[in-house]
Amino acid sequence: KTQENLLEVNNIEVIYNHVILVLKGVSLSVPKGGITALLGGNGAGKTTTLKAISNLLHSERGEVTKGSILYHGKTVQHRDPASLVKAGVIQVMEGRHCFEHLTVEENLLTGSYTRTASRAEIDLDLELVYSYFPRLKLRRKSQAGYTSGGEQQMIAIGRALMSKPETILLDEPSMGLAPQLVEEIFTIVKNLNEEEGTTFLLAEQNTNVALRFAHYGYILESGRIVMDGPAAELRENPDVKEFYLGMS
Ligand code: ATP
Repeated sequence: KTQENLLEVNNIEVIYNHVILVLKGVSLSVPKGGITALLGGNGAGKTTTLKAISNLLHSERGEVTKGSILYHGKTVQHRDPASLVKAGVIQVMEGRHCFEHLTVEENLLTGSYTRTASRAEIDLDLELVYSYFPRLKLRRKSQAGYTSGGEQQMIAIGRALMSKPETILLDEPSMGLAPQLVEEIFTIVKNLNEEEGTTFLLAEQNTNVALRFAHYGYILESGRIVMDGPAAELRENPDVKEFYLGMS
């Protein structure tokens, strides 16, 4: 069966400060209901790609100078990030930004700000988030700044869920986390994908874990996609093994 592509990035170029060419023609497709991984080392352009999609480059003096980005077949360029959230796309930024002085629950509630939902609906959404992240429920009244790195990553994803997204762009969820927590976070991503049907595009340097949980992967090197394929095939590819999985 052919899968509908929710998001299509066609041959985009991104330039920072009018001169630094960082993406040199990147194309990728994100099928509805899938987990798609964007892999590559430090500085390959993963974050830039996600920010191009969610229109967050302006504040960094970055600009998409070529190509197109379509969501549900419609261009998303020049839409502000808030209207993209309304359209169903939300980005969870690298570095687990949370409001340190607010409680865990208050952080989650900030995620529903773009919606006009009743308190009863919002309470149901909170319960849904807590059902996926029982740790956050236990710590709901704690100040977010005092929670662990893993819990802060959970807050960041949980807050995104509060906007009822169709698609989550997840930037480097494994960053700085112990292997067991990385496993826990990715398992939750998989559960959300399977049970809520949430579509994911995730940027990861941790190729090993990403290819175990994703359905499809793209490998980015110096602003170009150098390889792509079903995750199971990439895992068995000799070049991927040698250069990205550390098992030469
Ligand atoms: P990381 O894992 O470090 O986030 P990445 O693959 O996400 O890596 P990007 O953050 O997209 O990579 O960066 C790609 C390139 O663009 C890097 O060479 C980086 O130095 C450069 N770059 C990023 N942001 C800017 C900016 N605001 N101005 C100029 N150059 C930038």
